[in-house]
Amino acid sequence: MSKFKHIVVPAGDVIQVDGAGRVTTPDKPIVCFIEGDGTGPDIWRASKRIFDAAVAHCYGGKREIAWMEIYAGEKASGLYGTYLPDETLDAIREYEVAIKGPLTTPVGGGFRSLNVTLRQQLDLFACVRPVRHFEGVPSPVRQPDAVNMIIFRENTEDVYAGLELEAGAAETLQLIEFCAREFGWTIRPDSGIGIKPISETGSKRLIRAAINYAVQQKRASVTLVHKGNIMKYTEGAFRRWGYELVHAEFSDVAVGWDDCNGNPGDKILVKDTIADIFLQQILTRPREFDVVATMNLNGDYMSDALAAQVGGIGIAPGANINYEKGTAIFEATHGTAPKYANLDKVNPCSMVLSGVMMFEHLGWREAGDAITNALTRTFGQKKVTYDFARLMAGATELKCSEFATAVTENL
Ligand code: NAP
Repeated sequence: MSKFKHIVVPAGDVIQVDGAGRVTTPDKPIVCFIEGDGTGPDIWRASKRIFDAAVAHCYGGKREIAWMEIYAGEKASGLYGTYLPDETLDAIREYEVAIKGPLTTPVGGGFRSLNVTLRQQLDLFACVRPVRHFEGVPSPVRQPDAVNMIIFRENTEDVYAGLELEAGAAETLQLIEFCAREFGWTIRPDSGIGIKPISETGSKRLIRAAINYAVQQKRASVTLVHKGNIMKYTEGAFRRWGYELVHAEFSDVAVGWDDCNGNPGDKILVKDTIADIFLQQILTRPREFDVVATMNLNGDYMSDALAAQVGGIGIAPGANINYEKGTAIFEATHGTAPKYANLDKVNPCSMVLSGVMMFEHLGWREAGDAITNALTRTFGQKKVTYDFARLMAGATELKCSEFATAVTENL
């Protein structure tokens, strides 16, 4: 009898992760997918066709993904009566890797975003967002190809930790009185209060993941982005812990700016910048940034600002990864776009490129590269979905499924 109520386990093998988070992928790995709400099923169908075609193209039947559907959002609500069933979390813990479409966050008191809940329950501490431009993709800036960055955003702390109290509530007044009594802090009595925890543990594991990535991918620099000039003991500490980490664990491969005056030789340069200046410089001097590590709220703003520079949310991929355990969820970064649901219209590229990240995570780089090259060719032929077509001269507008066909033909 199956251990799951609704999940059907396909024939295939479990992805193995060792104690250091290193992933070993069998030839027929079981990979979980959540198709998502709204436009999710359209983009999932298109993406799956591209993934399967790329694997067949690269490995000629020697490798294959055994897809296992798991449930969250509206589909889960219909099946289980809850938006995030326990067995969905259990399946991701056991099978290690999942890819998901966008999920509706039900409106109503007390319900946190399903995405935030998934990240916190599985301790997926790094939100990883590569940002690069594909030639031909419409962009609001003059040199979008100058952007080639990967953002590591801390996922579990900061003002996103959910430690908030409403103005006027009894606990809030209690906390305000406590702060006045114990610390001499004056807080207006009609304030709402949020707590911003930034820990050494949380900061160092995120920055470690970013530097490891820079080493593996031979990137030139890692920039720590913070507002440490104002928030000295949270964002300032993040910066300090980052440089401490370089000394303690990476001195053979990386060097901090102050230790080399900005001349790292053949090592990776670790530098830092203030968040507001960073948002200017990604427009004025984007070539100066490569791997970026930052905290949760800064990372949220920065990811979307950078995505806009290279073509917007229809094309921005993302992953949430625990690099210590190997658990990872790859996801479309846009929402469910409900007005386009079941119209076979929207751009599937966010999920397709999340799949490219997934193939890299699995060590199936050839499949990821084949998809990236096929996308480049398809954009070059000006075959695009509506969102790009409306911004491009001479484009052929394709449906979501037709776009998938064009990409598979370009493999
Ligand atoms: P949204 O679904 O991202 O849609 C906003 C606009 O972005 C769309 O109207 C469309 O623009 C464009 N867009 C979104 N996906 C696209 C795609 N694949 N291809 C091309 N264009 C795309 O944001 P929303 O309307 O604020 O949120 C709707 C629901 O999604 C909410 O329930 C929200 O909670 C949820 N959400 C989920 C996630 C997630 O699961 N990761 C993230 C964000 C929001 P045009 O109208 O200009 O064509």
